[in-house]
Amino acid sequence: MDSHGTILVIDDEEIMREGCYRILSREGLEVIPAENGFVGLEIIRERKDDIDTILLDLMMPGMSGMEVLEKILEIDRDLITIVITGYATVESAVQAMKKGAYDFISKPFTPDQLRLVVKRSLEKRQLIKEAEYLRRERERSLRDIATEKSKLKTIINCMADGVLVSDRDGCIVLTNPAANLMLTLPDGQLIGRHITECDLPEELRASVEKSLSSDDHSFKTISQELFLERVKPLYLRAHTASVYAESGEIMGTVTILQDISHLKELDKMKSDFVAMVAHELRSPLATVEQQLGVILTGLAGEITETQHHLLTRAQERTRGVLRLIKDLLDLSKVEAGRFIQYKEPISLDELLGKIVEGNLPEAKAKNITLTYSSEGGNFFISADSEGMEVVFNNLLSNALKFTPNGGRVGVHLVDLGSHVKVVVSDTGIGIEKEDIPRIFDKFYRAKSTDKRRIWGTGLGLTIVKAIVDAHLGSINVESEVGKGSTFTVLLPKETEEVICP
Ligand code: ADP
Repeated sequence: MDSHGTILVIDDEEIMREGCYRILSREGLEVIPAENGFVGLEIIRERKDDIDTILLDLMMPGMSGMEVLEKILEIDRDLITIVITGYATVESAVQAMKKGAYDFISKPFTPDQLRLVVKRSLEKRQLIKEAEYLRRERERSLRDIATEKSKLKTIINCMADGVLVSDRDGCIVLTNPAANLMLTLPDGQLIGRHITECDLPEELRASVEKSLSSDDHSFKTISQELFLERVKPLYLRAHTASVYAESGEIMGTVTILQDISHLKELDKMKSDFVAMVAHELRSPLATVEQQLGVILTGLAGEITETQHHLLTRAQERTRGVLRLIKDLLDLSKVEAGRFIQYKEPISLDELLGKIVEGNLPEAKAKNITLTYSSEGGNFFISADSEGMEVVFNNLLSNALKFTPNGGRVGVHLVDLGSHVKVVVSDTGIGIEKEDIPRIFDKFYRAKSTDKRRIWGTGLGLTIVKAIVDAHLGSINVESEVGKGSTFTVLLPKETEEVICP
């Protein structure tokens, strides 16, 4: 027998206890003798976990072996008991086994018989111990996972940002209270439902679907702004990311929702303030500019050459500030959606003709050839005429501003049936490739423009794009440094629906 173990021998006959002791201790086993059931049970209670096998005599005076067996099993059902039966009575052995004894050995027995039955019992005990160990380990890890899970759950539930998780099939598997609040959906209403079955904002649903269908792993997050008109108007920023398994297959999506209504409110307050200041400055500055003009013409009396030079500079700077004020006011108009309030049928041909004519003096001053042409017959569009003037005046004045003396600027109008196309091209300085995606951003000016000291606010194209977008049109630019730029505007003739920016 190679395994160590502890054997408790409960037998009233001393000779039996000693016999067992002798045989088993030679096998390297610890043997504890007990002369009756009471002593045996006492030892079991004290050393339950140490005892591997109990050899129990069934025929004992006082408490019978059967009674002791019952008590042993009450203490621990996993304790292994081998009953020792006298006079070859198999019935009592069967009865004991039915109760829960593991094995039996009949008196008289040989040392080998004892060794064999104890060996088997120790192997069984080893199996039970291993199973118990595994069970405890499993319980412990389950407890750990449970606490980890509840920690995560607490964090997600306490987050101020909304969390919405979908599985690979597009079913929602997790939302937190913040998400439910922002989307004004009752707690738990989304769980288990497909994104197409929930009352989610259309754009958000599209982003989740797009993230799930994307095979491109570099395609990570879709960020978007959502406007919800539920109980109260709400602006949300949503970031939707695809989640991949290590194997590379898509597992689902995670969307984080942030309430940015307060930022929007703040932004609006700032814009209103800028618009108010710009508005208040415009009239006095316009008066200053006009009066400088009067002085410069000599109507208010003779001025010296130096005075003329200084006043001309002052007039130029004043005009610059007036242009900035105009751009700021136009921008605030665009942001308030006021450039598309008065839509009417307008002839773009007529409007462009007027605008080109208005810019002829500037072209002449720079010796630039400015041409206008049209192709097709129906140039009527439904638009805000003031907005259209702002669009094409900005594009044309940019073309003239960024084209050196002696260059060419052209405006070309084409009737495309459902749309009209306006192309404003120049032979000017052009735009660097890396600047092109940013020239429509607020206050963005290409570095080369600044270097050449060409005056501007960086707002013109922002305003242009916002007005074109609001008319459901599009604007596109192609440019080559040193050769020139071409801005192409497409506008639908009939705009049934108007979206305010
Ligand atoms: P700005 O007041 O500076 O003209 P815009 O918003 O109208 O502001 O234009 C942004 C920038 O785009 C300009 O500063 C310039 O760098 C570039 N840009 C616009 N139009 C042209 C053009 N026709 N040729 C070259 N660069 C241009």
